[in-house]
Amino acid sequence: MKLNTDSPKYQGQRKIMVTELESLGIKNENVLNALNKVPRHLFMDPGLISHSYKNLAFQIQSGQTISQPYTVAFQTELIKCKKGDKVLEIGTGSGYQTAILSYLEFDVYTVERDLTLFKKSSLTFKNLSIKVKKNLFADGYLGIIDSAPFDAIIVTAASKEIPKYLMNQLKVGGRMVIPIGDDVQIMYRFTRIEKNKFKQEEFGEFKFVPLVKGK
Ligand code: SAH
Repeated sequence: MKLNTDSPKYQGQRKIMVTELESLGIKNENVLNALNKVPRHLFMDPGLISHSYKNLAFQIQSGQTISQPYTVAFQTELIKCKKGDKVLEIGTGSGYQTAILSYLEFDVYTVERDLTLFKKSSLTFKNLSIKVKKNLFADGYLGIIDSAPFDAIIVTAASKEIPKYLMNQLKVGGRMVIPIGDDVQIMYRFTRIEKNKFKQEEFGEFKFVPLVKGK
């Protein structure tokens, strides 16, 4: 990943942001390091750049949001991946979460249903030399059947129900981290412990834009 568009000002702001994430309970050193290194300001809407290192979600195009840094760190920690793992992200959006996964040297597959955001994030990945195995303009509910199974699936929009079709694209031992609910969601982690058996864990309340069916 090219980081030469960075500046000492942003580096300082990111350090402070990461200290805040640590105080909020993020422990994984690799995850903290990734948030310390990836320039979030390059994924923000131009008018909001000065807010890049606040621990808040912000509007991007098409009425969508760039996730809050805490949420990005939390979900990235929850998927429990290591270098080389195959990770599918649903909801590319700005591409910031994708860049964090790529920085961690996971094999990243990402899907976005909104054409404007898909085009914009594709350009960002190209300009910053962010390595992504596949980025698709498609309905994320369908996953990427040709590239399945995955070690992990990270869903960055709120689903009303458990997306069974996606869950079945996990390897045995694989994990899916997903917010489920209406106005407020609960973060779930489903671990495929056997072919037809999933362990379910809950990790508190979050607020995401909705996962929408179709392109
Ligand atoms: N990870 C992103 C989050 C963006 S918000 C970031 O940090 O920038 C959630 C994204 O999910 C939006 O871009 C929205 O268009 C997308 N989305 C919603 N439903 C989808 C679906 N069915 N398939 C793929 N993407 C979807």
